[in-house]
Amino acid sequence: MAASTKLYEKIVAATGLELDISTGLMQGVRNGYSVMVYAPDKQYPSSLQVAIAAKRNEPITKEEIKELRSNCKNVGKVIQGNNCLIVNIKALLANKLPEQVEQVTQTTVDFMAARGWEPCCQMCQKDGTMPVAMVGNNYMSVCDDCLTNLQQNAHLEQQNIVSKKESIVMGIVGAFLGSLLGALCIIIVSQMGYVAALSGLVMAICTLKGYEMLGGKLTKKGIIIAILIMIVMTYAADRLDWAIVVAREFEEDLFISYQAIPALIEAEIIETARYWGNLILVYLFLALGAVPTILAAFRQKDLTEIRRIGNNSHSM
Ligand SMILES: [Zn+2]
Repeated sequence: MAASTKLYEKIVAATGLELDISTGLMQGVRNGYSVMVYAPDKQYPSSLQVAIAAKRNEPITKEEIKELRSNCKNVGKVIQGNNCLIVNIKALLANKLPEQVEQVTQTTVDFMAARGWEPCCQMCQKDGTMPVAMVGNNYMSVCDDCLTNLQQNAHLEQQNIVSKKESIVMGIVGAFLGSLLGALCIIIVSQMGYVAALSGLVMAICTLKGYEMLGGKLTKKGIIIAILIMIVMTYAADRLDWAIVVAREFEEDLFISYQAIPALIEAEIIETARYWGNLILVYLFLALGAVPTILAAFRQKDLTEIRRIGNNSHSM
């Protein structure tokens, strides 16, 4: 954060906006519009967006976007949000960024004023310049009533999550059903002649989501259970995949073929390196799919943080 704070301090010096150090949001009022400047992805702190809260009955047209871009070369992608216009700032040199943010902000505000956009609350469209709030991962310019509503809804939702009972038995059923889908995917993809490793992703996501859907919520206990299930089912699916090949080659029963796999590896009829190499690859993709899904389950808790940012209460 330290490096980007330095950069953001230069930006607020150039634009007159106010920096909120805890979130990295730069915000303020320009020509009566509520302006928010931020990095949508905190990993790229110098890749910034300007969001300006305002309403207009007609959506922005392609011609208007073209015009806005021709007014300032640093205007990148333009997106119409919920009662706001979001402009990506195209900047190649970090040392020019402060003045470029200023240019994009002023150009966009001038354009919006000329084209009939009116400042308003992004939620209820109430007229006026509304102060900025952090709503989960987003920033919004909303009136006090809407902020209270958002906070109450988030509070209710959080209580729902907390009071939701976890059913481990149903969770296991869900994880098992999910892992069956994953196993099917491993076998079908491999039998079609493709590398089955990618199916590991499907296995991980289906098993975890299966637990969450039937079990009510994904807790640490659920994650451990789901991981055990997916490890066993991946092994079984991979071995069954080999058994299908063996059964076809030797015109044998599938069940007997499945049981014969270790003996066939021992006898080097199935190459040891190929068998384990393939399995390890599937497990790698399993981990690749499981980690982000688990992280997302824990991150959901932070999504509902809703509070005012900045101390200029310019609500009208
Ligand atoms: Zn409102």
